[in-house]
Amino acid sequence: MGKPIVLSGMQPTGKLHLGNLEGALRNWVSLQDNYEMYLCIVDWHSLTSDFDHTQDLKERIFQMAVDYLASGLDPDKCAVFVQSHVKEHAELFLLLSMIVPIPWLERVPSYKEKSVELNLDSYGFLGYPLLQAADILLYKANYVPVGKDQLPHIELTREVARRFNHIYGNVFPEPDVLLTKFAVVPGIDGRKMSKSYNNDIAIADSPEETEKKVMKMITDPQKIYKGDKGRPEICPVYSLHQIYNSNYQEIYKGCTSGELGCVDCKKMLASHINSNLAPIRAKRKELEKSPDKVKQVLENGEKRARARAQATMQDVRKAMKLE
Ligand code: SF4
Repeated sequence: MGKPIVLSGMQPTGKLHLGNLEGALRNWVSLQDNYEMYLCIVDWHSLTSDFDHTQDLKERIFQMAVDYLASGLDPDKCAVFVQSHVKEHAELFLLLSMIVPIPWLERVPSYKEKSVELNLDSYGFLGYPLLQAADILLYKANYVPVGKDQLPHIELTREVARRFNHIYGNVFPEPDVLLTKFAVVPGIDGRKMSKSYNNDIAIADSPEETEKKVMKMITDPQKIYKGDKGRPEICPVYSLHQIYNSNYQEIYKGCTSGELGCVDCKKMLASHINSNLAPIRAKRKELEKSPDKVKQVLENGEKRARARAQATMQDVRKAMKLE
């Protein structure tokens, strides 16, 4: 028996941030020895909401691949590739769209929330979770590492697999979820860290940029002067200490007793983040100077992904009596 298959992916937003690093990348790195990993840069997904913003798509893909590799993903262990380069994703998406009732897609929570928030009403946007299901099923993935917010999408994937297997015979395993440890990393304004909120600290930021951003972070609004007793449990600076500072209990004590002021607390945090990220940033600089090496990694990943995707599509076409 080979290793269990894991599929995961991210939209090509460009340079990744601490939320991506702690919410996904570190988890992927920890899985790569025990699973056969397919890590997809899902550029078609990005078009479902960002269809008019393609001019720098290639650069965003490159920067994301650089962050993947700098964070410790080993291309010998994981197939890192671009979704649109493996056309079988589109074929499976199309075939699955024939058997999936529209209400299944309309009831996915992110569709309801985002279609109003972003004013999106395209056919592609409605089909986003089905494209995601096709991405997963194409590799017959056993596991998908996700945060809690993605659980309904994986449930939909399982339902689609069941429906296909019921109609055409057993082709797809139902994937299980591998819940990630740090699903939500706060940004500098206290909301979930996200490029679209412009509240992120990027892996690629310099130590100086990192410190500047950390110094701007919001804190407990009741702690104004150093001697004030603070509430670390509501402070995003403390949340990041919990991730980057092994002595975070000292921060808790200092904050709640009033012995520690927010300025010093933030300076300490910036220094912890910077020392933690130093090796990743050094590797990232090297990779940026070798675009051919990064391109080669993506091409090799694409070949491995395509081989598996083609085998699945043969099973699918056979089951559907298309060949
Ligand atoms: S001392 Fe630190 S943890 Fe406490 S409120 Fe200020 S920044 Fe937040």
